[in-house]
Amino acid sequence: MKTFYVTTPIYYANSLPHLGHLYTMIVADAVARHKRQQGIETFFLTGTDEHGINIERAAERAGRTPKEQADYVVSYFKKMTAEFRLDTDHGGYDMFMRTSEPFHYEGVSELWRRAARAKTPKGKDAIYKGHYEGWFCAPCAAYKTEDEYAKPTEAGGSPTCLIHETPLDRISEESYFFRLSDYAEALLALYESRPGFVQPESRNNEVTAFVRGGLQDLSVSRLKTSVSWGVPVPDDPDHTMYVWFDALTNYITAIGFGNEERERAVGFEKFWPALHFVGKDILRFHAVYWPAFLMAAGVEQPRAIVAHGMWLDPNGRKMSKTLGNTVDLDVLSRHFPIDAIRYFCLREMVFGQDGRFGYEALIDRTNSDLASGLGNLSSRTLTMISRYADGRIPSGVISEDKLLLAKRTGVDTDETTISGFIEHARDQFRQHFEAFAFSKALETAWTVVARVDKMTSDARPWELAKDENQKQTLSAVLYRAAETLRWLCVLLYPVMPTATLEIWTQLGLANSPGSTGTPAGIDPAKLKWGELAEGTVIGEVKPLFPRIDKAKTMAEINEPEQEAGADGRGDRVSVEREHPLGVQATEANAVPNAPIRKETRPSPPMTSATEADAVPGAEGVTSFIDITDFTKVDLRVGEVLTAERIPKADKLLLLTVDIGEEKPRQILAGIAQYYEPEQLLGRKIAVVANLKPRKLRGYESQGMLLAASVGDEGKPVIATFTEDVPNGARLK
Ligand SMILES: [Zn+2]
Repeated sequence: MKTFYVTTPIYYANSLPHLGHLYTMIVADAVARHKRQQGIETFFLTGTDEHGINIERAAERAGRTPKEQADYVVSYFKKMTAEFRLDTDHGGYDMFMRTSEPFHYEGVSELWRRAARAKTPKGKDAIYKGHYEGWFCAPCAAYKTEDEYAKPTEAGGSPTCLIHETPLDRISEESYFFRLSDYAEALLALYESRPGFVQPESRNNEVTAFVRGGLQDLSVSRLKTSVSWGVPVPDDPDHTMYVWFDALTNYITAIGFGNEERERAVGFEKFWPALHFVGKDILRFHAVYWPAFLMAAGVEQPRAIVAHGMWLDPNGRKMSKTLGNTVDLDVLSRHFPIDAIRYFCLREMVFGQDGRFGYEALIDRTNSDLASGLGNLSSRTLTMISRYADGRIPSGVISEDKLLLAKRTGVDTDETTISGFIEHARDQFRQHFEAFAFSKALETAWTVVARVDKMTSDARPWELAKDENQKQTLSAVLYRAAETLRWLCVLLYPVMPTATLEIWTQLGLANSPGSTGTPAGIDPAKLKWGELAEGTVIGEVKPLFPRIDKAKTMAEINEPEQEAGADGRGDRVSVEREHPLGVQATEANAVPNAPIRKETRPSPPMTSATEADAVPGAEGVTSFIDITDFTKVDLRVGEVLTAERIPKADKLLLLTVDIGEEKPRQILAGIAQYYEPEQLLGRKIAVVANLKPRKLRGYESQGMLLAASVGDEGKPVIATFTEDVPNGARLK
């Protein structure tokens, strides 16, 4: 059986989760789901790197042991992965690795021993004892890397500690070294012989140039007196393994290297080599150090090392806490559907390059691509099936004798035109996805959305429905749209696991006899046009991606202090920058006792009447009415049964609305410039039922629907219900 192993970096446990972590996890998760769809046994690893002086120091300040400090940070990572449904319970990662696990100590010791016995390609010892020299801060009791000290102001002076602002001492201590300098040629040969080993190509060029420039030996231990929180060097307990040798090795110890129990539970033999997803900032460690360690120890090289870019703010600046332009994961999870965030991350960033992340752009994409795009295609198709086909998937076949009739309406009688288009798009989507060109893959999928949307509109189903002779034509159009939705569910499942399963259920495929499983288990390559069974009873039609009210949501996002008061969010934990080999004092312990919040997720705001419209007494309401005045208005829940344009009246739509009476009402609404008729089919609206009937353009209007009036142009936005309500229910 084929296997596939994918990893995110293990995150350094002195930094709380942020957008960078979330993004790498989404990428790895989407790739893992895509592989699982193909029936490939997949293992998806993420986790934390928990050793080193920074954790030690943070623990000391918080009055914890280093392990307790790591546990504390890990709890935030696990909360994040659960909230964004990336954990095992939601079909996400298979294992959350922690380098403080005893089996990791065993495995990394085994790798060290193998490397320590090995000779370099030039015949020398791969690991040797020497002296590490560096800038040391006595009050910190730690060596400082370049971004942890301020450069000296005068030539020949000493740098100063960023924390203590005191000069650093140049000292040296005994240390083990890895003879990296002997591996340059072997590494270059590896890159040369394995195209795609480092991806994308531009990053491969960078790494190659770096190695060509010559490599220095790498200090891989510290005296235990300097750093005690870590893996002891085998047979030399005075030394602790240092940073990368320990951290990188997690990728093999997690699955069983050097530990029989893990080997039985997962299987190094079974799953290695891995595909490593990394941020471009840590590419060098993964593409240079890690392969060299593995060469020394005689372990097979990874499948590939794939580097992604960084998220910048909407203006293209680096995100930083100082600039105050970071993305708050709490804001994301509170205001946006998870699938919209996943979609945005994969659609917006051209993989490998830097991307820009802004809440406004996220709202725009959600509204245009998901609410108006995929969501609308789905609800429109399903609503028409329930309306025109008794809620069953109709036949896609147009019989010989009806072909001519169908042709007259402009509907393509040759089904293979549309099926051919979709098959081609599927093949392209797969190619892009396999090459991690997620943005292109999604662009391709949305050409299908647009194409089928147009096919449906062009066919004018509401007119076909009036003609008994065009029943087959209408059925064929509906079948094609529904079958396309089925394909899109399978293609898009790795990107939007929740929404696609929801469409799948609404299509009636979740529990139907003879159903082909769920999108999670269907290989896109094996999709065949026409496998959507005629007669399948569709499920309840529900909106997938409610439109996000941009002004309202942005106002909420920009007023965090108000919300803090409202729901007790005062105790925010600050998020700190990454990353090992130069981490500043942690702020993770700034609020050491902040509770981990458990909260219910409010649904994203629906487009609805603005607050000024809804709340009496709000600005704009000039006088008060008595409750008896209000009860004079008979407001009812109605369902739109039909909607059509009126000739020569470009503002009016003619609706028939069921408000629970014997006969549906005919209502004229001045919304034609803002709503397509078929958008309204099946929609639950609020109707003023006791408005005196009046005639407009020769049609009697027997009531009025409620809509918010938005902006200077007074754009109507129809008031609607998110829950299921019976027709005729009274609003009071
Ligand atoms: Zn210091």
